[in-house]
Amino acid sequence: MDLSIVIPVYNEEDNIVPLLSELGMELDRLGRSYEIIFVDDGSRDRSFEILKKAASSNEKIRVIRFKQNRGQTAAFDAGFKAALGDIVITMDADLQNDPKDIPRLLEKMGEFDVVCGWRHKRRDPWIKIVSSKIANFVRNKLSQEDIIDTGCSLKAYRRECLERLKLFKGMHRFLPTLMKMDGYKVTEVTVSHRPRRFGKTKYNIRNRIVRSFIDLLAVRWMKGRHLDYEIEEVIR
Ligand code: UDP
Ligand code: MG
Repeated sequence: MDLSIVIPVYNEEDNIVPLLSELGMELDRLGRSYEIIFVDDGSRDRSFEILKKAASSNEKIRVIRFKQNRGQTAAFDAGFKAALGDIVITMDADLQNDPKDIPRLLEKMGEFDVVCGWRHKRRDPWIKIVSSKIANFVRNKLSQEDIIDTGCSLKAYRRECLERLKLFKGMHRFLPTLMKMDGYKVTEVTVSHRPRRFGKTKYNIRNRIVRSFIDLLAVRWMKGRHLDYEIEEVIR
């Protein structure tokens, strides 16, 4: 299997069908073998019903359903563990990421282990754009990092890079840093971004700011205390 597309879904009933048609078209054009793994993070709308129906008529679609809503990092984790493709691509279910950008990520995959999308023209409410800019700035300062847009879900990973990864809640925002800590080569490429047409965002400043700051301190600590040694010689 060449590609696994991992997509967390939480109450995205109106987005699934249009996403599948756009994504399917793009993936078929690529001419590589693929699977699409939807991780339904305990949706309370019709998302799971729609996913089940889609999977029954298309063998490339796999669905993992959580009993309860456990957050985007947990959804990514379940998807990563299930993925069979050599390359794992993550994206949002809400059509804000454009499947047409996938080839741009793949182009860089030979040279890099992880390729992250950077939404250079973000199409979100201004408050979200500003708060996210500030968050990225603080994140980079405190964790001595230089990632421009860590929050973009559209990313591609060599699957091996994910195998040793131990994730904790909220860590999906720090995946590029965690990958670099493991010694993998990470880059960013510009991707397009679209306004959310259906459904609602799951994040606001209130539910992000405190938790993601605590998460940042954890990542800063991990980075500072990361084991980094080179063996010069071994006898016996
Ligand atoms: N999501 C999820 N579990 C959650 C919150 C979000 O699976 O607890 C999914 C959501 O359905 C979407 C993606 O994660 O596919 C990003 O969420 P959202 O679009 O709300 O974030 P934003 O783009 O507003 O930052
Ligand atoms: Mg979104």
